[in-house]
Amino acid sequence: SVWISEIMLQQTQVDRVIPYYLRWMQQFPTLESVSIASYDELLRLWEGLGYYSRVKSIHKTSKIIRNQYGCQFPKNHQKLLELPGIGLYTAGAIMSIAFNQNYPLVDGNIIRILSRIFNIENSVKQRETKNYIWKKAEELILPGKARWLNQALMELGALVCTPKTPSCHECPVRKSCLSFHLGCVEKRPVASPSKKMVPIQVVVGVLLKSGLFFIQKRPANGLMADLWEFPGGKINPGEKPEDALVREFQEELQLNIQVGGKIMTLKHGYTSFSITLHAYFCQLIPEDQLPILHFASDYRWVKPQDLFHYAFPAANRRLIDILTKLSPILYDIGKGSF
Ligand code: SF4
Repeated sequence: SVWISEIMLQQTQVDRVIPYYLRWMQQFPTLESVSIASYDELLRLWEGLGYYSRVKSIHKTSKIIRNQYGCQFPKNHQKLLELPGIGLYTAGAIMSIAFNQNYPLVDGNIIRILSRIFNIENSVKQRETKNYIWKKAEELILPGKARWLNQALMELGALVCTPKTPSCHECPVRKSCLSFHLGCVEKRPVASPSKKMVPIQVVVGVLLKSGLFFIQKRPANGLMADLWEFPGGKINPGEKPEDALVREFQEELQLNIQVGGKIMTLKHGYTSFSITLHAYFCQLIPEDQLPILHFASDYRWVKPQDLFHYAFPAANRRLIDILTKLSPILYDIGKGSF
């Protein structure tokens, strides 16, 4: 449970993780149950949480632990680091919280707290500064108390030493906090300017045939690996969305389509980019073409109600929510009346 929760919490807010974590632990309460589940089952449960390589690593790691360690997590820092998806932070969390071994863990919260307590003036984005913070976190551990110290630091960061307006006057460690005494708390941590979100215009096609939707599976590597999606892609500068859709179907699937009515435009923000997604109905012209996959690893024709059995990126899922509300009409459209 420590392993799963820590992997889910990488780059993801606690509030967002809680329902996913509860569902996961109900369905896969043991390492063995994870290791015998199919990857698609795990991916479906993970859908919407993002950073999908995490669930792939969980799947691989569960199999390694079952095969090499008899379903027992190794109580060894180095061996943990050799497992897929387990870096210094997660290894530290498992060693300290699960096994109460003397290992530090440093995440964004703890970087913030320690940069304030020790009044670190260098950017916390620099490798040397991060190494220095790891060293400080290690020095703070009293032997046999790592489990408590690390969880206490996490709580301090979540409840007291918050990013904006920390509650210094209620803080149990303010006597030791250099930034508090120097009056420069709001200047810590020092960070490099954050990157701007890149806006991207995207078009997707909801291809219908006899009331079935065409979906394709993304490649096993890269962004949103292994998720299912409606075909489409980026709109080039100056290109009309309908033209981009025809081009994308040709390039990715070698299918000729006729673009029909617009379904919706939606905006969705991912971590480093935001998309404006234009969705259209479309149909094959002629109808008896077969796709040749140049980008996807698989494809299916599925009924509207079966879309829920597949894992989709968040923006596609929002589109599906709309589509399933429209499904009785779609069946008519599928018979060729649009
Ligand atoms: Fe954070 Fe303020 Fe406590 Fe220092 S005194 S650790 S800045 S909450």
